[in-house]
Amino acid sequence: MACLFCKIINREIPAEIVFEDDEVLAFEDIAPQAPTHLLVIPKRHVATLNDLEESDQALVGRLPIVAARLARERGFADEGYRVVMNCNDDGGQTVYHIHMHLMGGRRFTWPAG
Ligand code: ADP
Repeated sequence: MACLFCKIINREIPAEIVFEDDEVLAFEDIAPQAPTHLLVIPKRHVATLNDLEESDQALVGRLPIVAARLARERGFADEGYRVVMNCNDDGGQTVYHIHMHLMGGRRFTWPAG
């Protein structure tokens, strides 16, 4: 299986896993862009946002719910945080297994670069 994040799900390569349930995994980003930078992913392989179907609504809906829970646990939910999903080349996606970035612990600017 070629997908990097599927390998993390299958414990074929290491990651600092911070949350897991039947559908979702969250782990530390290897190149953090904020004091907290986690990736929240579905365990089922979906390459890009464009590949989602109506029937994936519940699965994808879990991503921000888990992200908010992790933000609360990390203590920056009330201060605020940034969640990002990048799609394809122009969107800056480099790993083709959908993931929600959860970044917190500093102030973010907008618009993103
Ligand atoms: P970008 O690389 O531009 O942030 P993505 O939105 O596709 O594009 O994000 C992929 C993320 O995956 C990056 O933040 C990157 O640091 C992270 N990453 C890549 N390899 C690993 C790994 N082995 N373990 C944890 N995070 C990883």
